[in-house]
Amino acid sequence: MDVTETLSHPTARIDFDRFARMKLCHQPTPIEAMPRLSELLGGPGLFIKRDDCTGLATGGNKTRKLEFLVGEAMQQNADMLVTQGAVQSNHVRQVAAAACKVGMKCHALLERRVPDRNADYETTGNVLLDNLFGATHEFRPAGLDMNAEAEAVAQILRDQGNNPYFIPGGGSNPTGALGYASCAQEIADYSRDTGQDFDWLVMGTGSTGTQAGLVAGFHAIGHNLPVMGVSVRQPRERQMNAVHALTQKTLEKLGVDGVPLSRILVDDGYVGEGYGIPAESTMEAISLLARREGILLDPVYSAKGMAGLIGMVRQGFFKPTDRVLFLHTGGATALYAYQEQLLATLN
Ligand SMILES: *Cc1c(COP(=O)(O)O)cnc(C)c1O
Repeated sequence: MDVTETLSHPTARIDFDRFARMKLCHQPTPIEAMPRLSELLGGPGLFIKRDDCTGLATGGNKTRKLEFLVGEAMQQNADMLVTQGAVQSNHVRQVAAAACKVGMKCHALLERRVPDRNADYETTGNVLLDNLFGATHEFRPAGLDMNAEAEAVAQILRDQGNNPYFIPGGGSNPTGALGYASCAQEIADYSRDTGQDFDWLVMGTGSTGTQAGLVAGFHAIGHNLPVMGVSVRQPRERQMNAVHALTQKTLEKLGVDGVPLSRILVDDGYVGEGYGIPAESTMEAISLLARREGILLDPVYSAKGMAGLIGMVRQGFFKPTDRVLFLHTGGATALYAYQEQLLATLN
């Protein structure tokens, strides 16, 4: 075995057995080539890791985080999961489903974060599924400290004799981020087993747990795959600092030294007007992936991430020989809440 091979296929492994964990996720998720998209863009080799196929209630990236969060909730004998998110939160939908699977109740705070939505925005898509899973919810106006609001509600529920387990927005704390450290391990294992290496990993970044977990995981096993987060909400600097802070805390949990801020890569050129408001590039990404690859993206996260990848290809950011892996984080359930906008933009 030569030195390069040793470097690109690290043998260090993370011991996840020391953390409480509840099996919720179909894994490993598949990695597929996207030849028709690569051809259209005339770009590098494009691949997609299908974390939209994690198996829990239409899938998505929150399932991996919830394996560790729900594991901890069960360890603490919780009888209820309390969390928060935007109205069309994929995270809340996944928490609601996980609660059903382990026989807990679920209560969620939904922030009216996105202005000027369709009449059925608060009843269709993810909200419909939250209700199907029997989760209760209450709304909040935009701009509050939603984690503080949810913790306050958890305290009230505790005082009433429940044993709630609080999950922060997006499941983004060091426990949740372990789910994406395990995904980093899974990608490294895939490359080792198949000989298919990647030069870049690209995905949408919001509440930061996905990117932080990935960076922490790759660092912990000595793998140097660069992880490019395409911001769906915040300006670059703020997002970088937030991802970095959670990366450091996650590495601490793993018992591994930290990484410099320069290891955190963020592009904020595809946010558009703000969270939950699709830009033109977002709608283009939805349409391209549907029609070239038969893949559904969502208007809030994964299509902004994909718009970033498409934009980077067009700008010549990648070398023609690069192999670029996009992490599909799920979210297509939210498409139904954007029906009018989709119909107006397509064709
Ligand atoms: C939550 C979410 C993300 C963002 O992941 P974070 O860990 O919050 O950064 C991306 N895509 C989808 C579909 C999501 O629901």
